[in-house]
Amino acid sequence: MKTIGLIGGMSWESTALYYRWINEGVREKLGGLHSAKIALASVDFAEIEALQHSGDWDSAGELLAQAGRATEAVGADFLLICTNTMHRVADQVATAVSIPLLHLADATADRILASGMDTIGLLGTAYTMEQDFYRGRLECRGLNVLVPGADDRAIIHRVIYEELCLGQVLDSSRAEYLRIIDDLVARGAGGVIEGCTEITLLVDDSHTDVPLFDTTAIHAEEAVRLALS
Ligand code: GLU
Repeated sequence: MKTIGLIGGMSWESTALYYRWINEGVREKLGGLHSAKIALASVDFAEIEALQHSGDWDSAGELLAQAGRATEAVGADFLLICTNTMHRVADQVATAVSIPLLHLADATADRILASGMDTIGLLGTAYTMEQDFYRGRLECRGLNVLVPGADDRAIIHRVIYEELCLGQVLDSSRAEYLRIIDDLVARGAGGVIEGCTEITLLVDDSHTDVPLFDTTAIHAEEAVRLALS
């Protein structure tokens, strides 16, 4: 079994899901007392968020590069950045290590294309919904990506940073998310990407019939597949 390198803590609420779901995936495949070999480097999200806010992506990238090198130093065979947003600095991290990076947008695009959809809604932080590093990577794969309007993007973003990353899951916010998901479907989306690793805490398949692409689950499942291949 390969050792999975995780750069986590962004936020730890979703890294805890990665840790649980990767271990459950290994137990399901290997049985018994088997568990995943994981090298986790977990950062202080307050430092990262301040750098995001000021637009200092280079410094944020350097912090994640250090974390990536730390996982490699203790034996990681490949690396995951456990947040969609920080894939903004994926190239900086990938060049700082000599192990492969399992890119979250690529893994997600593979799942969507396998389902036969070509038009997809995207929910995530403002950075993920509005900048090119994530949408562009999906569009390069031939996907037509729809995002909510400006007011709804602000709601999605605020709930991530002010509630979900602090472990708060509110029914009122779930209702807003479901309204926005339905709106994306009305505009032609065949499904919706939960393109922030905390959104799965708020909305899952039990809340809607709309096909959801849960990036936390997709990333964890791909990590297990790769670790056992
Ligand atoms: N975990 C979130 C994501 O997947 C947001 C936190 C962050 O800014 O990294 O984008």
